[in-house]
Amino acid sequence: MTSLSLIDVRKSYGATPVLDGVTLEMGDCEFIAFLGPSGSGKSTLLRIIAGLEMADSGEVWLEGKRIDALAPGGRGVALVFQQYALYPHMTVRENMAFGLRNAKVPNTEIAARITQAAQTLEIDQLLDRKPGQLSGGQRQRVAIGRAIVKEPKLFLLDEPLSNLDAALRNRTRVELAQLRQRVRAAVIMVTHDQAEAMTLADRIVVMNDRKIQQVGAPMEIYDRPANRFVARFVGSPA
Ligand code: ADP
Ligand code: MG
Repeated sequence: MTSLSLIDVRKSYGATPVLDGVTLEMGDCEFIAFLGPSGSGKSTLLRIIAGLEMADSGEVWLEGKRIDALAPGGRGVALVFQQYALYPHMTVRENMAFGLRNAKVPNTEIAARITQAAQTLEIDQLLDRKPGQLSGGQRQRVAIGRAIVKEPKLFLLDEPLSNLDAALRNRTRVELAQLRQRVRAAVIMVTHDQAEAMTLADRIVVMNDRKIQQVGAPMEIYDRPANRFVARFVGSPA
């Protein structure tokens, strides 16, 4: 079964093209990592999939349903980005519950999902704190937890680990891999860390120049880069 389909997605800001026809098919529960230099359109693509930005043309499908015109909350997609925007005046629990209340999820169900996600992410001791009382790493876990409780069909992670120190990044990386087994969902993760992409992803998408340069399994990208840009970018010997 296909999870996400992007068909010829195009976007310009004014006269400046940012995405020049992006087409991609994701498998069910697939984990795809996006690599590419800054400014290549990765975040814009994620924002389009999440519904925070409109494409100029093209189609976005999720599990057989066209979602381009749906509101962000109704798409079955959760976006976690690096400036994890938690509500500062709410506790961790309230931050996690907020989107679910808006979606009219019953209170008992909300409580159950928060308990489960908090255990998974080991933030169960932090539920009554406010974001200001948390470390950067803890805040990032809460942001991931807030995405998990939505039970999305697709997680979009935009450099979710880039603000963490090396030790915490390693730990969270392992947790992401485990989490993936537990929450059955597809994942797109933007990262600038190639090792991270290689270890976590089923397939890697390399972007440059407003376009996808190559899609393939990690070793395939490395062993058989599609062009000089990819070869140089992933540092393969070709
Ligand atoms: P990446 O995430 O790969 O670094 P982005 O998607 O953030 O790339 O940006 C792609 C291009 O679009 C960049 O040149 C950026 O300056 C431009 N851009 C992104 N958002 C906006 C915006 N809201 N208005 C104008 N230009 C934007
Ligand atoms: Mg970005």
